Amino acid sequence: MKLTMVGAGYVGLVTGACFSNTGNEVTCLDLDSEKIKTLLDGGCPIYEPGLTELMEINAAAGRLKYTTDPKEAYRDADMIFICVGTPSDDDGHADLKYVFGAADDIADAILELGPGAKPKTVVVKSTVPVGTSLAVRDRIKAKVGDLPFNIANNPEFLKEGAALNDFNKPDRVVCGVENEATAQVMRDLYEPFVRQGNPIFIMDILSSEMVKYASNAMLATKISFVNEIAGLCDVYGANINRVREGMCSDKRIGNQFLYPGLGYGGSCFPKDVLACISMGDRAGRETTLLKSVHEVNQKQRDLFWDKINGHFAESGGLAGKTLAFWGIAFKPNTDDIREAPSLTLMRKAIEAGAKVKAHDPVAAENCAKEMGDAVEIVDTMYEAIEGADAIVISTDWDEFKQPDFAKVKSTLKDPVVFDGRNLYRLEQMAREGFVYYSVGRATARPEGAAVN
Ligand code: NAD
Repeated sequence: MKLTMVGAGYVGLVTGACFSNTGNEVTCLDLDSEKIKTLLDGGCPIYEPGLTELMEINAAAGRLKYTTDPKEAYRDADMIFICVGTPSDDDGHADLKYVFGAADDIADAILELGPGAKPKTVVVKSTVPVGTSLAVRDRIKAKVGDLPFNIANNPEFLKEGAALNDFNKPDRVVCGVENEATAQVMRDLYEPFVRQGNPIFIMDILSSEMVKYASNAMLATKISFVNEIAGLCDVYGANINRVREGMCSDKRIGNQFLYPGLGYGGSCFPKDVLACISMGDRAGRETTLLKSVHEVNQKQRDLFWDKINGHFAESGGLAGKTLAFWGIAFKPNTDDIREAPSLTLMRKAIEAGAKVKAHDPVAAENCAKEMGDAVEIVDTMYEAIEGADAIVISTDWDEFKQPDFAKVKSTLKDPVVFDGRNLYRLEQMAREGFVYYSVGRATARPEGAAVN
């Protein structure tokens, strides 16, 4: 089949590469000429493990192409996947200007081809408020009149950092359609990805759109829940790791997505929770729980900042101090820094007069674009701590999990670690001679260490 991905971002490129790898002819369209130039030069504008290699193989086989020209991208396509961004607008609602912009271009292409052309299937893959895919259908219809086309919604569940595996072996595929013919096209397309028997759920379009928001809202709720419990552990002296073990061994609860930290970030959970809240507000159906989920998430960064600030308040404040950030990306294995907790903490540190040095294996370039000279980016985790008064661990990259503690201790001005990812054991840090702050656990100190 001939497929076009509208938007060569995290979703469009992964989807395009994976569909081309099963034999489809895929064109990735983006209006950002820099991105397309990078792709045409054989590079990849994002970091996603394995993606560059997969794109190279399929581009070389002539199955994967890139363009900035909507006409070229839409003309021959049997299916068009809208994978553009849906960021939050000022009131938290999903901003649909990119989705509708794509819909207008698609309508122009259908109109230009005229009667007799094979009907295209337009698939909304972007995460969109319930009702958007039908609004896309109506917008195209308003331009093309009786010229036939089909509409579908097909939410994407991939996780950045593990996107290829998630796409190739999805837990489930969800498709919202209006007729059986479209359902069949979607089943045929996804068949190679569910050979192990995972389900393809065909449903109405409104429910399909809701599945995506419900899934992300549920995951965000789990994170805020465990962070709130970690806050109680902090004030009452319990250890969240022990609490997790005891709680999560209950099969009804399980242990997925119940890790305390700095709160959720990234380009999906924050905006999708806000979009759900906004959908509720617009319909006069308040989403009380989700408003709290959002609030807890915002507060989580402040609570962690209070630990940093509180520690330095005892020694004259943060002005003139240097903080070394280990990790910038919102989670490991990605270069995505959208809504990353590290940025919030860095900004607070800078505002308080501290100098910030940072290391991240792949997100440094994006951080430099976002923060400019305000943050000194360095190549290694050990370079970051030279002359630093403390470490702030903001991303749980593997390379931070077993550092040379003796080297860390002798390089830092003071052996102080603020760990927003609970990477180390309290007993270990006390033994290694650190003052060690983490989330939902007592502060470990070199002498009189807490029992882990
Ligand atoms: P992204 O910002 O990485 O990429 C979007 C791309 O679309 C940009 O390169 C932009 O230039 C391009 N674009 C905008 N308007 C266009 C147009 N009219 N024609 C061609 N290109 C256009 O976004 P993303 O992270 O890939 O997310 C896309 C959608 O998928 C969002 O709705 C998001 O919520 C959803 N989603 C994202 C993820 C994820 O992990 N990133 C996972 C599941 C779902």
